[in-house]
Amino acid sequence: MTGRRTYLDYNATAPLRSEAREAMLAAMSLTGNPSSVHAEGRRARAIVEEARNEVAALAGARPDEVVFTSGATEALNWVTRGGWSRILAARLEHPAVLEPSRRDDLLREIAVSKEGAIDLPSLAAALDASAEQPLPTLVFAQLANNETGITQDVAAVAALARAKGAVTATDAVQAAGRIALDFASLGADLMVLSSHKIGGPKGVGALIARDGRFPPALISGGGQERRRRAGTENVEAIAGFGAAAHEARREATGTSHMRALRDNLEEQIRHLRPDAVIVGAASPRIPNTMAIGVPGTTAETVAIKLDLAGVAVSAGAACSSGKVGVSSVLAAMGLPVEIARAVIRVSLGHGTSETDIAAFIAAWSDAVTKARPGGRVHAHDTAASRVAAPGE
Ligand code: PLP
Repeated sequence: MTGRRTYLDYNATAPLRSEAREAMLAAMSLTGNPSSVHAEGRRARAIVEEARNEVAALAGARPDEVVFTSGATEALNWVTRGGWSRILAARLEHPAVLEPSRRDDLLREIAVSKEGAIDLPSLAAALDASAEQPLPTLVFAQLANNETGITQDVAAVAALARAKGAVTATDAVQAAGRIALDFASLGADLMVLSSHKIGGPKGVGALIARDGRFPPALISGGGQERRRRAGTENVEAIAGFGAAAHEARREATGTSHMRALRDNLEEQIRHLRPDAVIVGAASPRIPNTMAIGVPGTTAETVAIKLDLAGVAVSAGAACSSGKVGVSSVLAAMGLPVEIARAVIRVSLGHGTSETDIAAFIAAWSDAVTKARPGGRVHAHDTAASRVAAPGE
C-alpha cells in the first residue's frame, strides 16, 4: 500500500494506541505465569490486576466484577450459555449474540422501531410470555449499534426486565470509549467489552457481572480468573487492553471533538448530496459513527472506490470477514432495500483529524458522483427519482 491512507473504520477495529503497544512490549519482556507464586509470577499477576482496574474504571464497575476473555465474541457466547429459559433480543444485536441463541433454540426476537430503538411494548409482551418458564429469562440490549451507532436506553430495558424477574446483558463494545460507561448505575446485570475497538490489541475482551454473579464457566480447566474462565491469561494482550482502557476513559468523558468532526462531515454530505440518507440522524447515537446511503449506489462499489482513493470505510458490518450484503440491522429498522444496499459506515476515533474528514469528502463526492449513471448531480432531481435510479 502506498500513499497516504485515511482510516475511517474504527468500529471494525481501531488502530493500536502507542500506549497499548508500549504496555504490551513491556509485558512481553517479562517471564512469569500470573498463577505462579514466585517473583516472576507475581509481576505478571500485577500486570493483569492493573489492567483489570483500568477496564473496571472504563466500565464504571468494580475490579472483582471483571473477567478477561478472548474477546467480546467469547464473552457474548458465554452469556448466552447462562442457563436461560429464553433469550430476548432484537435483530440489532451482534451475531455473537444471535447465532448461539438461535442455535440453542432460545431466541425470541423483539421488534425494533423505525428509529432503531428496541420496542419496549414488544419486550414487555415477550417478558410476560416467558413468565411461567422454569429458568430465568435473559434480555440483550446493546448499548450502541456497530453499524449505525444508534444507542439504546439500556436503563429502561433493564428496569423493565428486572420488574418482570429477568436478567439483562448489554453489549457495550461500540459504546466504550465513545460515551462514558457507568455499569454501576445502568441497571444491566452483565456487560461485554472488546479491546480492539478502543485501540487495544485484538483477541481480548471482558465480561463484567454485577457483584461477580457470572454465568457458569464456558471454558473450564485451571482455576484462572477465580475459576470463571480457565486458561493461562494472555498477559501481553491484557496489558494492552488495560492501557487502551485508560486512554479511552479519558476520551469518552470529552468526545466533543469527535462529535464536532462527525457533525461537520454530515453537514458537508447533506450539502453535497441532499438526497443522501443518514441512518439514525434523529436518534441518539455515539459520536463517532455515521451510516450513510446515496440512492442509486451500492455500498460495495462506493467502498471499493473509496479504498482505491486511499480511504478505508465499511460496506456493511465488517466484523465478519469480507461479508457484504443487505444488513439485517437496517432491514430490522425497515429501511427500503435500495437504501440499505447503499449504506456505508464511516467510523471515527482517537486518530481522526480534520485532514481525514477532508480526504473522505473529496473521495466520497467523487465516488458517489461517478456512481450515478447520469454523471453529475442535478438540482432538479427529486429524492424519489434517485431512489428509483438504476443501480450500478
Ligand atoms: N459486539 C459488537 C457490537 C461488535 O461490533 C463486535 C465486533 O466485532 C463484537 C461484539 C465482537 O467483538 P470481538 O471482535 O472482540 O469478538
